[in-house]
Amino acid sequence: MYNLEEDRIIEEIKKLSAKRVLLQLPEGLKAEASRLVNLLEEKTDASIFVSGQACWGACDLPIDEARTLDANLIVHFGHAPFHKPDFPILYVETRYECDITPFIQKNLETFKKFKKVALVASVQHLHQIPILQKILEKEGLEVTIPKGLGRSFYDGQILGCEPSGPKLLERDVDAYLSIANQFHTLAITLSTEKPVLLLDPVHEQVKDLQPLKEQIIRKRFAVIEKAKQANSFGILVSLKSGQLNTVVAENLKKKITDKDKEAIIITMKEFQPDELLNFGNIDVFVITACPRVAIEDQPRYGKPVLTLKELFVVLGELSWEDNLKQGFITAPYGAK
Ligand code: SF4
Repeated sequence: MYNLEEDRIIEEIKKLSAKRVLLQLPEGLKAEASRLVNLLEEKTDASIFVSGQACWGACDLPIDEARTLDANLIVHFGHAPFHKPDFPILYVETRYECDITPFIQKNLETFKKFKKVALVASVQHLHQIPILQKILEKEGLEVTIPKGLGRSFYDGQILGCEPSGPKLLERDVDAYLSIANQFHTLAITLSTEKPVLLLDPVHEQVKDLQPLKEQIIRKRFAVIEKAKQANSFGILVSLKSGQLNTVVAENLKKKITDKDKEAIIITMKEFQPDELLNFGNIDVFVITACPRVAIEDQPRYGKPVLTLKELFVVLGELSWEDNLKQGFITAPYGAK
């Protein structure tokens, strides 16, 4: 169902006369690697390598790996551009190709409870927004597509760390409809007080994430309260291509030490709770990279892991209520 655009990849390899190409696939598509390598080596003169590292987004391009391999091109699957690296990258967005009309029609009464809606989608489903828009407008709903702000490359596109475009429309809509998975949809759900419905065309499900949001908020409140007792902070800086945030880390360190608490900056490529255990004197970690590490991976750490804004709550610079109103995931994460 996912379009891997093999012809476009072959064309690009030939256009660049690339001798070595590095493929980067998200976890769910790694099973396609052998077939792609065979096809691309048959159709071009390039030698094809596959990155075996985990990949969760276009914030994590294997540029060092490609340079070490002396590759001429990275083919990145599953995401749209996130930042501007100094290396040739071909993005294959792996659009999900299916007719979502029957799925929309089946759930139309649920969508018609709202008068004004904003439509968003992860990059795999962006082309399905106009189909949903047309059906809803025919039913008399007012439909808006958010601008592609911040890390979003396209209008209407949502990322797990970027709800800025939809958030801007908050006052003008009754609800958000998100054609995506739970991970992406949760980014808006945690950033707005308006209802958000997840439309998952892969599993043909419509889901309200409000109960999950309430559960997460309760847990985050407990994490923040515990972090308020801390004296020693470890500020985590990611070495991933699009998540590197050294200046933010230095600013945070100053903020923390100005409050007579200790802070060090710790760099890592992949945050591993087991390795961070060796920093036994650190009470709290603050993540300057992907904010979802704090939200989804917290139980693996055994110590509070805070997003930037949660640190501001801990330091008394932002109220818990304002953090909720503004949303957990609205800070400027990642390198430009
Ligand atoms: S920073 Fe996190 S949420 Fe954002 S694109 Fe990267 S992996 Fe996804």
